[in-house]
Amino acid sequence: MKKNDIVLTEIEDIGVNGEGIGKIDGYPLFIKDAVIGDVVEAKVMKAKKNYGYARLMKIITPSEYRTEPKCPFARKCGGCQIQEMSYERQLIFKEKKVRGNLERIGGFDRELLDRIMEPIIGMENPYGYRNKAQFPFGADRLGNPVTGFYAGRTHVIIPNTECALGVPVNREILETILGLMKEKNIPAYNEQTGGGILRHVLIRYGFATKEIMVCLVVNGDSFPHAEILVERLCRIEGMKSITLSPNRKKTNVILGDSFQILWGDGYITDDIGGVRYRISPLSFYQVNPVQTERLYGLALEYADLKGAETVWDLYCGIGTISLFLAQSARKVYGVEVVPQAIEDAKENARINHIENVEFITGKAEEVLPEWYQSHSAAREADKTGSGDRDDRADVIVVDPPRKGCDPALLEMIVKMAPERVVYVSCDSATLARDLKMLCGNGYELEKVRTVDMFPETVHVETVVRLQRKHT
Ligand code: SAH
Repeated sequence: MKKNDIVLTEIEDIGVNGEGIGKIDGYPLFIKDAVIGDVVEAKVMKAKKNYGYARLMKIITPSEYRTEPKCPFARKCGGCQIQEMSYERQLIFKEKKVRGNLERIGGFDRELLDRIMEPIIGMENPYGYRNKAQFPFGADRLGNPVTGFYAGRTHVIIPNTECALGVPVNREILETILGLMKEKNIPAYNEQTGGGILRHVLIRYGFATKEIMVCLVVNGDSFPHAEILVERLCRIEGMKSITLSPNRKKTNVILGDSFQILWGDGYITDDIGGVRYRISPLSFYQVNPVQTERLYGLALEYADLKGAETVWDLYCGIGTISLFLAQSARKVYGVEVVPQAIEDAKENARINHIENVEFITGKAEEVLPEWYQSHSAAREADKTGSGDRDDRADVIVVDPPRKGCDPALLEMIVKMAPERVVYVSCDSATLARDLKMLCGNGYELEKVRTVDMFPETVHVETVVRLQRKHT
């Protein structure tokens, strides 16, 4: 097999990034945009020793799982990877991906997974689900401002203000901004030169409250003619918050470290499962509200609280899971590294009249050991174990970013020995790695369930329950 060879192959499998995998005499070729079951003609782009990459040239026989994508840019755009696969097949792919990681990386055996994995929770309508989008701004060849999404693995913007995963109002907001930029010659940021002004626009939409937030990320401290923009944007029904976040750094990080209010409040509110949340521009908030309610419900079910427990919610963001759990626990501690998110979390506890929660700013892997240390004196003094209940945890919930938990945190969890650990994960590879550690140190994998928070993409959320083994 060598570069530029043209091959004919049937797609037998799906790679973790959604590519089709065809085999030529046992040699696997990864073919982007080919769907499992397709018979395709492909051109080899790169041939390594044990596998290669090929470009899809022609679909000879389409797979029964192939479907018409809603978005005309589905193949080019880096946002979605598997829009051409039927939704039912996407769900099977995601479940298998999680299972594969648990087997390969976690070392869990098949029979166990057969027994404990519950069926994936999919969506009824796998489009229009995102409450948040961050649109990059740039210029086209003629120098006109454009916005849309990056093409896969590049920073080339595909102009598109109507993402099929987002809400319809995105278009009106973006066209209003582009219109003013053209009118007043306001340049978009240029990554190469470091010049220009507008870098990104973050839009959030509260599905329950219909409130809208717009945050302009600028290369500087202000946006020219901001007053005209504000006047136009605040005419859009539901507009609640228009802010500006300065970001002068040459970096791929989208938002700046702070924000200032241009109009309205510095936040919007939203409801999930009867709890009201305040969300500011720099705080993390789950992007799919329909599935988030199911995800949090599942975390609560797996935590199996009876009412007397001390619970830690690590990586708590704006306190969403903490407040869900607090209604069924004695006390919940939330830990989060972003200070603005902790401010939101405290406010959220207040507006929901939930008093049995406490939020701590800091890294989970530092806060928990410090807490344990400072309470160990009380623990020593009270050998009967009936006194200070805050020195321990009955249930620990973790919901880390893709890189998973820090090893120091996992060690601390083992030391604190909670009855149950509920792990909410957005990356099943790091989840499997962390579960292997915990299950090698006194815990048993009891339940696993995936929730499809991100239809049309290869990403998926997983919730796991671990039970401490009693010997
Ligand atoms: N449970 C929340 C947030 C999950 S996202 C929710 O469902 O909305 C992960 C969160 O972890 C983010 O808010 C991020 O800021 C935070 N984070 C990242 N690294 C951290 C660390 N080392 N310690 C504590 N929080 C961290």
